[in-house]
Amino acid sequence: MSKNVTRALSLLISFTLFFSVAAIGSPGISANILTNTASQRIELTGSAVQTNTDALVPVPASLSQPEPEGEGCPCEHNPFIVVPGITDSDVALLDKEGNPVIGSDGKPYVKGGFMVDEDAIIDAALKNLTWPLAKTLVTQKDQGFTAAAYETAKSAFWRQATNKDGTPVENLQVVRYEKSFAELTDDQINHLFINIPLRGICDIVGYDHVYYFAFNIIGDPMATAAELDEFIQMVKTQTGHDKVNILNASLGASIFTAYAEQFKEKGDVEKIVNVVALLNGSDAFGDLYAADFNLSDEALYCDYLPEALADGDSKTMGYLANLLIRLLPKQVLLDTLEAVLNGAMDSMLRCAPNFWAMIPKEHYPAIADKWLSDPEYAVMRAKTDAFYQAQLNLKDNMLYMIHEKGAVINNVCGYNLQFSSMSGVLSIVNSNKNSNSDGVINVQSTGLGVTAAPAGQKLPADYLAAHNSPYISPDKGLDASTCVLPDNTWFFYNQDHEQAGKNAACMNLVGELFTNPDFIDIHSDPARFPQFNTGSDSKEIRRSLLPDSQKVLALYAAGEFDISTADLTELNAAIVQAEDALKATIGDQAEATAATQRLKNILIKIGYRDAPPPAVEPDPVKVFFTELLEKVLKIASELVYQIVGPQGYSDKF
Ligand SMILES: [Zn+2]
Repeated sequence: MSKNVTRALSLLISFTLFFSVAAIGSPGISANILTNTASQRIELTGSAVQTNTDALVPVPASLSQPEPEGEGCPCEHNPFIVVPGITDSDVALLDKEGNPVIGSDGKPYVKGGFMVDEDAIIDAALKNLTWPLAKTLVTQKDQGFTAAAYETAKSAFWRQATNKDGTPVENLQVVRYEKSFAELTDDQINHLFINIPLRGICDIVGYDHVYYFAFNIIGDPMATAAELDEFIQMVKTQTGHDKVNILNASLGASIFTAYAEQFKEKGDVEKIVNVVALLNGSDAFGDLYAADFNLSDEALYCDYLPEALADGDSKTMGYLANLLIRLLPKQVLLDTLEAVLNGAMDSMLRCAPNFWAMIPKEHYPAIADKWLSDPEYAVMRAKTDAFYQAQLNLKDNMLYMIHEKGAVINNVCGYNLQFSSMSGVLSIVNSNKNSNSDGVINVQSTGLGVTAAPAGQKLPADYLAAHNSPYISPDKGLDASTCVLPDNTWFFYNQDHEQAGKNAACMNLVGELFTNPDFIDIHSDPARFPQFNTGSDSKEIRRSLLPDSQKVLALYAAGEFDISTADLTELNAAIVQAEDALKATIGDQAEATAATQRLKNILIKIGYRDAPPPAVEPDPVKVFFTELLEKVLKIASELVYQIVGPQGYSDKF
């Protein structure tokens, strides 16, 4: 399917429904907004999917065969449970009889995150939209185009469609792991490590003390929290500990919010670390549900499309789109946007309780009245109201867990990015302009209670003069003294949401919080772990370069691979530097990049890795015309805006 058709279609859907872009993976847009990247998904080979299917087979052992009770584990580490993000729980689509539905690749359909099929959407769009669009263009009146756009958007999410009572329409089964990592297969463990890099923590607390709580992203967080409570009881029984530790990543914090509301009295959880966590929704999602978009004339007809459709530095597609959208009368264009949002709302969003957990509590009452005030949604409304109550009580619940039950809670956040830094599509939400976020969740939520200036700006001078303290970030954009947990909230400058797991400093902080009993808060070891740190990415070292190095050294030791003495010395030195980069506790991109490059270079030199293909000199003629085309379209776009104004061609002439 051509890239441009894909883009045009992504545009159609994403225009009002920005996170669908994550699911359909439009080129030029940083896809998969929460936690995982598309490329990571692609790494999942057939064997991983096979593994997932294996996990579908109920594992009766875990709940029914507890280890001998009364024999407490003598070790010093509580078992550790991950409650992961939005794309990190695999869900299988089953038919009514409970048999796996086979996907287009011939394998059981199992997917994390949004269960959307790009090719099927494009086929449906071409089939449903082409004729109404043609008629609409010819007559300049809506001839069924908005209705077709509604149906197309609605059908795109059919696998995760929801009933009016907030339950899934289809037979969806979460792939659960009701046993420790020690009992999972290597494929399963590697699959989960791709979601959240836990090897360091596993090495310290033991694979038999690490668990993964998968959940359905369209489910009810209050009910899912009850499942988490059962899971915790299972883990306690299996490990012989009377408390557990929990890492809540991103959307996992909605489950934590619901858990704290219902089960705080139990005192089952000792350490909790919330990583880039949705502790009070995200303004971007609130805007989506409120349809609070920047549809000003200038945004709609000038600025938005070039940014949303940017492909690297090129905005050619966006300028072209600026000319094309005028083929529709303005009212038809606006109606189409509304139809797409309503289609997604009516199929999935309106009655998926966990998505409502992404709405900040300040915005919930008005948005609930907008979408859920009809009595036919009463059951659903009761579910979202219950979660809203949990949101309102979260601060008190956390303080209760800390002061009455001895829990230790830390929040780890990224900041100083606008929502649109992750994807230009997000520039349409009204909160983007003043956002300070990790690209997905604003820092006021991940850093519960922090005072923040818009990304890239400082707090007002009079505020800074009145609040001079060590809690002011070095860039003067944050005041952590207003946090619910000022001494237990950690910030990474320019750290984007997806990359948090790839920042060694961030993951080392999380590991330290869980495993070092003397490491309590920001005052414990500020030289190694300052409250205000920096984003960086050392994923390639951990994911591929160090494993490759171990493999080649093993081959060398077995006499199956030849390495000269000098090269061997360099390889070992590069390995040491790479390992040091992974031990970093201060984010330093230059250090991570240097270590990555050195190890890559020596692996290429000894012939274990292929050298990257030589950079091809771009054809100067092609470059000239490509740039010319962009310039011409930019001028045309601006000229047409001046002449035609913010409306369709037929509105004007
Ligand atoms: Zn133990």
